[in-house]
Amino acid sequence: MQNFTLHTHNGEQHFDGRASAETMIAAAAAKGFATIGVTNHLIVHPNIKQNLEKEPMFFNNFADMEKTCRRHIEILQNLKGKYNIDIKIGFETDFFTHKEWRNGFEKMLSRLEVDYLIGASHFLKNEDESFLCNIYYLKDLNPRPDDAALRRLVHNHYRNIEAAIRSGYFRFIAHLDYCAIFDLGEEEEFNEDKYRLIAALKETKTAFEINTSGYDRINRPHPAPWIIKELADSGVKTLLSDDSHHPDHLGRHFAEAETLLEELGWNPADRLQLADL
Ligand SMILES: [Zn+2]
Ligand SMILES: [Zn+2]
Repeated sequence: MQNFTLHTHNGEQHFDGRASAETMIAAAAAKGFATIGVTNHLIVHPNIKQNLEKEPMFFNNFADMEKTCRRHIEILQNLKGKYNIDIKIGFETDFFTHKEWRNGFEKMLSRLEVDYLIGASHFLKNEDESFLCNIYYLKDLNPRPDDAALRRLVHNHYRNIEAAIRSGYFRFIAHLDYCAIFDLGEEEEFNEDKYRLIAALKETKTAFEINTSGYDRINRPHPAPWIIKELADSGVKTLLSDDSHHPDHLGRHFAEAETLLEELGWNPADRLQLADL
C-alpha cells in the first residue's frame, strides 16, 4: 500500500485545513508514512472579486499571495527533521489561462523554492476569465446562472483543466472531475470533455491523482473509475491522494483505492514514485 501522501492541507494562515502543519506532519509520521507533501491552496487571480473577505485564502494580487506562499514554505522548513518523516513542500495551484495570471505566476514561482505543484481547478469561469466563481460558492451567486449558462461554464471548467494538463507546470493533476461533488458535469454531454482530458494526459504523459476524498462524498474516488480504466496501460502515472484537511483524513480509503486499481488492471509500474518528484 502507498505509504506516502503528496496532497495535504493545514490551517496555517487562514488556509482551509483543520489542524496545524505540525499536527498533520506528526500524525503522518505516527501513521508510518515515509513522506508527507504539504500543498496548501495557491489561489490568485486579478479578477477574483467575490468572497475576498469571507475567503481569506483567495487573493487578487500576486504580492499578497507571494507573502503567504513564503510563510507556508518557512513553516514547513522549520518542521523539517523534527519528526521521522520526509516533508515535501508544494502548492495545490488553481490554474488559469489569463495572461496576467501566467505572467504573475511564472514570476512568483521563479522566486519560490518548492518541490512540486499540483494542478487543480476549483472555479467556474467564462472564456476570458472576466467572470470567476469558486464552485463551492456557486450557491451564493445572485442571480444564479440559468441552466444553459451553467452548462457552458462547466464545459469551460473542463477546458481549463485540459489547459492545466498541457501547461507543463504540474507534477500531477488533482481530482479531474471535482465538480461531480456539486452534481455538475455528470451528464453524458460532458463525456466529450472528459475524453479530451484523457487524451491530453496521454499526449503529455502528465500524471493524475486518484483522490480518495471522493469516497466520503460521492462513494467513489476522483476521477470516476471508467476514466481511470481509460488511462490504464497508457504509460500515464497515478498516485493515491487523501487530500487531507484533518489528521483523520491521512491515508483515507487507500485500501479501497488500491483494490480498485487492481480490479481495473492498473500496471503497478505506472505508479508515481517519490523519486519522480
Ligand atoms: Zn482541490
Ligand atoms: Zn486539496
